This record gives sequence, structure tokens and C-alpha cells, in this order.
Amino acid sequence: MQPPKSEICVICGSNPATTYEHVPPRGFFKGLSGQFRTVPACSSCNNGVSKDDEELRLYISTQVGKQTEGAKFLWEKGAHKSVLRSTQLRSNFMSTLCEVPVVLPSGEVASRLAFLVPVALYQRVFERVTRGLFFWHTGSILPRDTSVNIQLLVGTPDLDSPDLKSLEAYTVAEGAFEYRFSIDPENKCNTVWLFGVHQAHWLYATTGVLADEVL
Ligand SMILES: [Zn+2]
Repeated sequence: MQPPKSEICVICGSNPATTYEHVPPRGFFKGLSGQFRTVPACSSCNNGVSKDDEELRLYISTQVGKQTEGAKFLWEKGAHKSVLRSTQLRSNFMSTLCEVPVVLPSGEVASRLAFLVPVALYQRVFERVTRGLFFWHTGSILPRDTSVNIQLLVGTPDLDSPDLKSLEAYTVAEGAFEYRFSIDPENKCNTVWLFGVHQAHWLYATTGVLADEVL
């Protein structure tokens, strides 16, 4: 499938496109080959985001662990190096750590270290992924004033449920990224997306009126 072309950045929908942007970010799939998706973007959308991508990669890596080869690479070839190199990244991450009470199977209450999920960071990065993939599949730019809402899921959704099975499904980077989506034929700004990162980390995106409903 040949990706569509655009002279305008498909992320911001306003600046001239001078470069290509990976959706999802290439850095989330260190060490993996296979097909990646790129879309036309302006340099400020492209350069302005690599810090976000690097920071989010660390959160994703800590959540997916090392249960697949790709997830292992993500930490060893990507996130771990960033953590070693960047004091800023380390201190941002450390500042989100806190102790939370958990109830053990024995009924005892213990204290565990947890981190706060940077919701705004997920929103920024995956809004870009949603806008990029929307363009990749439709050849149209999702209008700037169309809302995009990103929601993190706890655990893995039931991928065999009729609702999720009815969505169009694709995989990227040797299966390390999978996504499904559906576009309203009456108004294509209204879409639903499911993203799976390293088969362990799941997010939903909704756009248009669907996004406004949950905002
Ligand atoms: Zn742009």
C-alpha cells in the first residue's frame, strides 16, 4: 500500500510539509525492522516531539516489561540508554514516583512504589499517531479543530469481542505495534482507534463527536 502524499503537514494541518514523521514514533520499536508508517510533516511537528517520544518511551518500557523480544529491545536499546544519558528525564520520572498502599492476597496492606502516568504526554504523542494514521489510511488531513481524545486502558482488552473484531486491523514493526480502527462513513472525522504497543500496553483514541462525548 502506497502512503498518500500531502504538501501540508498532516499533523498540524497548517505548515508546509518538509519532512516525514514516523507514526507511531520509530523509537518505540528499537531493534525491530518491518514496515513502518511515515507521513508528511513540518519540521516543527517533527523536531518538536522527539523529547516527548523519548520520555514516553520510558513510561511504556516500564509498563510493558520485557515479556516480548521487542519490549526487551525497547528497554535495552532505547529507554535504558535515555535514562542513563538524560538527568532531566531521570528526574522527571523520579518525580512521578510515589508510595501507594496495596492489599496483598493475604489481606495485609503493604506499601509499593508506583509512578503517576503522564496523561498529557500520552495525549500529545498518541494524538499525533492518530492524526498521522488517519491521513495514512484516508488521504485526508483530520481538521485541526476536530478533537482527539486518548485513553489508556488498564490491562488487555478482549480482542476477540465482536466490537473489536469488527474494526480494520493492522500491524507494524514485526507485530510490536498493532492498531484497529473504524471510520464513520457519514462523517469521517468521527473515528475510533485501538492501539497496542508491544502486545502489553493498550490505548483507545476517539476523534470528532466521539471524542467530544468523553472530554
Ligand atoms: Zn506540522
